[in-house]
Amino acid sequence: MPMDSYMQSVIIVVKGVVQGVGFRPFVYAAAKAYHLCGNVSNTGGGVCIHVEGSADRIEQFCAVLRDNPPALARIDHIEILEQESSNFVGFEILDSTHRDKTTSISPDVAVCEECLAEMNNPHNRRCGYYLINCTQCGPRYSIIETLPYDSSATSMKIFKMCPACQGEYDNPMNRRYHAQPISCHACGPILALMDKEANLIAQGNEVISKAAELLKNGSILAIKGIGGFHLMCDASNESAVTTLRMRKKRPKKPLAVMFSDMDQLCTYLLPNEQESRLLTTKERPIVLVKKGSRSLASSIAPDIDTIGAMIAYTPLHHLLFSHFPSPLIATSANRSNEPIIRNAQELRERLGNVVDFVVDFDRDIVNAVDDSIVQVIQNRRATLRMGRGYSPFSLVHTVSTPLKILAVGGQQKNSIGLAFEDKLILSPHIGDLDTIEAMEYFQRSVETFKRFYDFQPDVIVCDKHPTYATAQWAKNQGKRVIEVQHHYAHALACMAEFGLKEKVLAFCFDGTGYGDDGTIWGGEIFIVDPYDYHRIGHIKPFRLLGGEKAIKEPKRLALALLFEVYTLSEVGGLKLPFLDHFKSDELALYHKAWEKEINAPLCSSIGRVFDAMASFCDILHENGYEGEAGRRLEELYDPVLDEAFAYTIENGVIDLSTMVQRIVCLGQKKEYIRIATGFINTLTAIMGEFAESYLDMPIVLCGGVFQNKILLTLCVTRLEEKGCKVYSQEQTPINDGGIALGQLYHAVHRVKTYSS
Ligand SMILES: [Zn+2]
Ligand SMILES: [Zn+2]
Repeated sequence: MPMDSYMQSVIIVVKGVVQGVGFRPFVYAAAKAYHLCGNVSNTGGGVCIHVEGSADRIEQFCAVLRDNPPALARIDHIEILEQESSNFVGFEILDSTHRDKTTSISPDVAVCEECLAEMNNPHNRRCGYYLINCTQCGPRYSIIETLPYDSSATSMKIFKMCPACQGEYDNPMNRRYHAQPISCHACGPILALMDKEANLIAQGNEVISKAAELLKNGSILAIKGIGGFHLMCDASNESAVTTLRMRKKRPKKPLAVMFSDMDQLCTYLLPNEQESRLLTTKERPIVLVKKGSRSLASSIAPDIDTIGAMIAYTPLHHLLFSHFPSPLIATSANRSNEPIIRNAQELRERLGNVVDFVVDFDRDIVNAVDDSIVQVIQNRRATLRMGRGYSPFSLVHTVSTPLKILAVGGQQKNSIGLAFEDKLILSPHIGDLDTIEAMEYFQRSVETFKRFYDFQPDVIVCDKHPTYATAQWAKNQGKRVIEVQHHYAHALACMAEFGLKEKVLAFCFDGTGYGDDGTIWGGEIFIVDPYDYHRIGHIKPFRLLGGEKAIKEPKRLALALLFEVYTLSEVGGLKLPFLDHFKSDELALYHKAWEKEINAPLCSSIGRVFDAMASFCDILHENGYEGEAGRRLEELYDPVLDEAFAYTIENGVIDLSTMVQRIVCLGQKKEYIRIATGFINTLTAIMGEFAESYLDMPIVLCGGVFQNKILLTLCVTRLEEKGCKVYSQEQTPINDGGIALGQLYHAVHRVKTYSS
């Protein structure tokens, strides 16, 4: 040891995603390399390292921690405190202690290359092992019951390690040192194939070839994944896919497809560079990719030219593909609008009439988590659903809150959020809360997160909507409640992701949300900061004919827009194809309801204007799936056409009447491409006009409407041309899945001003 360096004793606390990612063995190896003595332990608050040695070497050691942590780790904060010397001899890894729980939980990760190589190596003891994993891969969040993360806190606690696994688990230099789901053929969960009456058909590795055989014959199998079951069938077999749709009562909504690898995917689809990169990340999301010339079953994604694609991510998937040569449908096993199913018994109860066979193993899924869905817009990720791989998602921000805050999100695409100290945490996608099952799942998720973070909320944040189940739940908890307007929360979610605190101009375009005046909003233009907002513009309200029903039937929305401009007899004389979808007496009936305001609430939603446009273009009149209108209009868009329609803005109210007149003209001539293109161009023109008055402000684009790839691309391009700085969410959902994050962002600022 050099003479000029004095001896030092320090405690280093590392916070972030540092548990269950091989962090302590990494610390152990680094301490050994720099001849430092001391110990390392997992605490509820992060990883705690106590080291002694020369000051130089401690400094070098800290640089390694900071600059070269394990691939799955994310370091948010390192704190170093000088200590009295403890005269350590050697370096050791201590058992976990149970202190405060503020550490971040690692999301689930796809099987790594090293594990796959072992699985395919006939000389390895885990050859063909369907649950192979290590500290760099495998399940995390989905098997954790509580923190700190060790095997007694996961669903692996019922399995006793064999001596060989135990040896690896105890050896700090082994890749499986403290890999909590460690197991092998001898000591791990057992794979089983059953028919839908729960009769055992095969066990162990025999299951895989049998399952592949059944898939080849057109059967529908439920196969256990990481965060739930998938329903799988041969994606090239039209009759199998149609049967699945029929049994699941899911007529049109696109189904996700799983490919064995990128080579297979590229024979069917045309991913760009960024999409290819996302498809093969350790998070393995579903990525929307353009269809190629070689086709799969046409009923997978009817009428649109993209497919939701993912690459195999569990060892079991890879083994299955070694026996099955082509792509597989892999859709979440659930009944429509219900949560993803976690265990075989529930599966038989709820989907007994959908599946033919079940592939299961006895490692429980503690926390259900759906596959994430993303798309690439302008070379950046846009998140449509945040689930496996990405969540729990944590953000560190600059405001530290003295209180514990729970945000309960919205009603559709629900997720929940927690704020404590300087952390904002967003749960995985929970779903639409329209069923009892979904509401139970919501409550279970709240309990799970409270347990993970030892969290009792002081404040609960919810949407202003009086009948949202989450808002009602929040008000029944006996805590202080803060309500946040829906579209304000959308803007705040974007601000939270980018850490924006200054005033921004926010375009909040989505389906529906409860407005401050009691009407339905969704085409709002706000000036926003974390504390407050002002509505400076909005679409002139029109009527939802039939209320909720209008959301399911775009033709009612097109009709409502006509009633704003034309008399009933004028409407009767129009030669628009969508009008043929009404029975002869219906027009008069709807007009009466419109006139007398019977079950015809006002709304300013741009999502609903999109629906109306799809009906004007004669592509969608009823029973679309959420977002279908936008997707279909995108397909019609012609970038060569420069057409935009006239509109007026008075006192911030955007009147689309002249646009509707023009569209009627084009509609009678069946010029649908011009309608779709002109409408999207008009929206960007309107936004440009608003932006002109606020050129010094950053711009936030938020709400589900901006899932539309063409609209978002055009807006960003046009607004950036004006010199504006434009933000839209990448890592968190731009749709209602991000509402909880926005609610948190407002609450942490508001609570801070109250308490200081
Ligand atoms: Zn691995
Ligand atoms: Zn073993």
